[in-house]
Amino acid sequence: MLNRETVFHSRYLPPELLTKVLQKYAVLEVIGKSVKNRPIYAVKVGSGSKKILAWSQMHGNESTTTRGLFDFFMRINEDTSFLRSFSFVLLFQLNPDGAEGYTRQNANGIDLNRDAVKQTQPETQAFMKVLSDFSPDLCLNLHDQRTRFTVGRTQLEAAISFLAPAADEYRKLTDSRLSSMALIARLFESFPKSVKQRVGRFNDSFDRNCFGDFLAHKGIPTILIEAGQWGTDYDRVITRRLVYESLFGIAQGFLGLESLSKNILVKSYNNIPENTEFGYDEGLYNKVENTLTGIRYKERLENGTVFYEPDEYQLINEDKSWSNFRYQVIDAPSL
Ligand SMILES: [Zn+2]
Repeated sequence: MLNRETVFHSRYLPPELLTKVLQKYAVLEVIGKSVKNRPIYAVKVGSGSKKILAWSQMHGNESTTTRGLFDFFMRINEDTSFLRSFSFVLLFQLNPDGAEGYTRQNANGIDLNRDAVKQTQPETQAFMKVLSDFSPDLCLNLHDQRTRFTVGRTQLEAAISFLAPAADEYRKLTDSRLSSMALIARLFESFPKSVKQRVGRFNDSFDRNCFGDFLAHKGIPTILIEAGQWGTDYDRVITRRLVYESLFGIAQGFLGLESLSKNILVKSYNNIPENTEFGYDEGLYNKVENTLTGIRYKERLENGTVFYEPDEYQLINEDKSWSNFRYQVIDAPSL
């Protein structure tokens, strides 16, 4: 049995390592090449009528959902009843060049998640080909979010956030969007309280250049999952687990979608607090000057290791609640 704790334990997940492990358990199909000619792989499993397309790491430095998607694949790959109900196409790293260099953008410096309409990049073109060939009933768009995100006014960290993307600028409740909302709400209701209070709802402003909005506009139920961070778990092992649970819960919900009471669930979806930005990696309290400074880290890859370094400093005057800070330093020197 695979030890999930030791495989892909780091935020840095180069494509070569991912491929080496995936090959042991799956047949990999090349669906296209990246700018630097790296293969983009799909794993196809299941023979059922419900078709789910999931992709991760279109932003190369966002590996948590790739790791969660891998755990999900390992789980369903042994489950014959699951595979009789569903057909999955899983794209584990849509942006392998970005994954290699630990960058958000692809090797042309383009954010793929703004390329859905223009489709100028080979990675986007590969995705669109899969989309039209497979014609999924549900799309799962998987990302990592930064530590600045918090859950509404609670100011607790957003360990995971969800969104049923808008289908147009009026954010109309289309049928497909209602389905996405119902699936998210059903999942949310199933979480224990400790998890629930760390779940946020991602911003639903409409931008057709983003993959999720583009797909919602086409009328395909789509769910965005943003893996955040629980406390000081910088390797994001806990949220990796949450991603796994979420993928499983969403798929199960999708099986019984017709029987879900959507109107009730949409209310519950709208009750999930929106993401706010009260989070800091560090809080420095200077007793003498009575000042509190919030610090946000940036990530830097060096020799295959991700380092977290102070990047953004902000003087905070209002509420000095310590819950917003992952690390707390009292009596800090003036900066
Ligand atoms: Zn992202």
